[in-house]
Amino acid sequence: MNMEKMYESMGISREVYAYGQRIEKELKDRFEQIDRTAEYNQLKVIRAMQKNRVSDAHFAGSSGYGYNDLGRDALEDVYADAFHAQSALVRPQIACGTHALAVAMSGNLRPGDELLAISGKPYDTLEEVIGIRPSSGSLKEYGVTYRQVDLLPDARFDLEGIKNAINDRTKMVHIQRSKGYQTRKTLSVTEIGEAIAFVKSINPEVICMVDNCYGEFVERMEPTEVGADLCVGSLIKNPGGGLAPSGGYIVGKKPYIENCAYRLTSPGLGKEVGATFGVMQSFYQGFFLAPTVTAGALKGAVFAANIYERLGFSVLPDGQESRHDIIQSITFGTPEGVIEFCKGIQAAAPVDSFAEPEPWAMPGYDSDVIMAAGAFVQGSSIELSADGPIKPPYAVYFQGGLTWEHAKFGILMSLQKLVDAKIVDSRRLSGR
Ligand SMILES: *Cc1c(COP(=O)(O)O)cnc(C)c1O
Repeated sequence: MNMEKMYESMGISREVYAYGQRIEKELKDRFEQIDRTAEYNQLKVIRAMQKNRVSDAHFAGSSGYGYNDLGRDALEDVYADAFHAQSALVRPQIACGTHALAVAMSGNLRPGDELLAISGKPYDTLEEVIGIRPSSGSLKEYGVTYRQVDLLPDARFDLEGIKNAINDRTKMVHIQRSKGYQTRKTLSVTEIGEAIAFVKSINPEVICMVDNCYGEFVERMEPTEVGADLCVGSLIKNPGGGLAPSGGYIVGKKPYIENCAYRLTSPGLGKEVGATFGVMQSFYQGFFLAPTVTAGALKGAVFAANIYERLGFSVLPDGQESRHDIIQSITFGTPEGVIEFCKGIQAAAPVDSFAEPEPWAMPGYDSDVIMAAGAFVQGSSIELSADGPIKPPYAVYFQGGLTWEHAKFGILMSLQKLVDAKIVDSRRLSGR
């Protein structure tokens, strides 16, 4: 069977396949650049593992209190070194990215302190952590106030606004690298570094925390290399490499990481406790694979941008732009567009390909959300996945792909569904 027939046997028509091939050919240079970044980051991870003398004994895991868990402690040193940070907290007890961020904030903020978000409204689930939407146990309930400075219309930091907002209660600044469910640009590590330098020039004591979700290994540098005091993310996104079954990480300055540990476990216990059961090998191996897995996901995002941009949909980032995270948003303008796209991603999955995704009211989100994922790890979004809130502008957020080949298949399948539903006119695929 030739390739075209193989795709046909999987439900991809000749027109859709041929259109994809044309786009892929044009992306050769972009893909080469992505591979170079992966190569650099692969070395960075290996260097950190060698420096910390990672060995078989580190994969054993612990039970009960988890005292003297060598594998856990060494992995935290590996993360700290790879991120050029002093210390790290990398734990299966961190349930998700939101939890990691909640630990970083509540561990370091005290009653009377103020949290200042300088890249606009934080990710949806953090609204309840902070208390922007009333919620039991929020920072607001503990007397931590909140202030926000939006990005300027061109997505640059509003330096004047930041300067005016910082006051003597400002304890922590929040910066979100990725756009999340917004249609803005993702911030580059360099831009984040400039904003941090500005904040520190006003008050060097302010803790600068970066929500690094989806950004890991997309560039050669991470925010901790440009002055971030804390940098936070999820292990079922980039750094888990698709193998970590759960977990989150926080890297940064030692005293702030200690505070996080006292919040995550207990005052007095901190980093000393926390069993790792049998997950350590997957954490190490996933981190080892993460640079190349991220590269595959990134190629998928660039491919999707070019596929849909040329069909007249608005895409962010656009087909040419440099990348700072693995998220691709495509605005369809109708609920049907979002739904068909997600159906295609689901139908291309190795797991649960027979299921049909539907919009539902997910906890933590303020509108119905549709999610497509046929993942080995439940909810993993480094695996090929797509989600979109069912509200204007009806944009879908697409990410992941453990291999570029799977990402490509998923994107072609999404296009196939849109063609079948007559949302995309098949004549546009061959025409110029
Ligand atoms: C995914 C994400 C989070 C929260 O992660 P969960 O693991 O879903 O709790 C926070 N911020 C950003 C920018 C994200 O992309």
